[in-house]
Amino acid sequence: MTVFLRELRKTYEATAGTVTALDGVTVGFEQSTFTAIMGPSGSGKSTLLHCAAGLEQPTSGTVTVDGTVLGELGGNELTRFRRDRIGFVFQDFNLVSSLTAAQNVALPARLAGRRADAAAVTAVLDGVGLADRAAHRPSELSGGQQQRVAIARALFAQPAVVFADEPTGALDKATSHQILTLMRRMVDEHGRTIVLVTHDPVAAAVADRVLLLVDGRVTDEMAGADAAAV
Ligand code: ADP
Ligand code: ADP
Repeated sequence: MTVFLRELRKTYEATAGTVTALDGVTVGFEQSTFTAIMGPSGSGKSTLLHCAAGLEQPTSGTVTVDGTVLGELGGNELTRFRRDRIGFVFQDFNLVSSLTAAQNVALPARLAGRRADAAAVTAVLDGVGLADRAAHRPSELSGGQQQRVAIARALFAQPAVVFADEPTGALDKATSHQILTLMRRMVDEHGRTIVLVTHDPVAAAVADRVLLLVDGRVTDEMAGADAAAV
């Protein structure tokens, strides 16, 4: 699935005046590619992901996902479209506190009206090293473990495109490597499209390309392999 952002602008009205979070971003994420977005804090990375995933509406410009312009969908259509095709890993996990890890992983698939096979849920939790935590609630898990449940949840529904906002920020090196390898495999073996925001050059090095965002604009682009040297 290809995602194309055209002249994306996003402004917020704050007490101190208008804040420009995105200042005309035009970029494409082709199917079967892994893109990392880097840039200073406040440069618009989260806003870019949220707009691209249809979680926030841009002030102007368009997001096109495989020919569908998100801004032209009605509220229910957009919700359904997102559920069927787009996975999102939030910076603050967004897990449902009353549900177990396994129930959290199964939730999007169930909301989309699909059956969530228990063995398949266990397999995806196993993939992020959490098979033995399936019955734990978020409050009984560490930050890194919660993040891994959030990643397992985003992967379980097998969306064509996954947006991930600093997914490895709270993880130790080994777990981080494990998650990045998992994501790389989704791209190489299953043709998924992944867009990842990260501060970590090691994480960016797993990507095919790295975009640098500064003050709401893409100011540079490089191959992932070159990011490791930065
Ligand atoms: P690059 O990745 O080389 O910087 P872009 O991100 O600007 O290039 O564009 C990615 C791809 O999307 C290009 O092949 C471009 O031709 C294509 N494209 C351009 N306009 C649209 C559009 N409106 N909808 C879908 N794809 C488009
Ligand atoms: P990054 O993810 O790169 O740290 P963000 O996308 O979170 O950047 O934010 C970009 C800019 O937009 C920042 O100046 C931030 O303060 C501002 N911003 C983000 N969300 C809001 C909001 N809901 N209201 C007002 N300003 C916001």
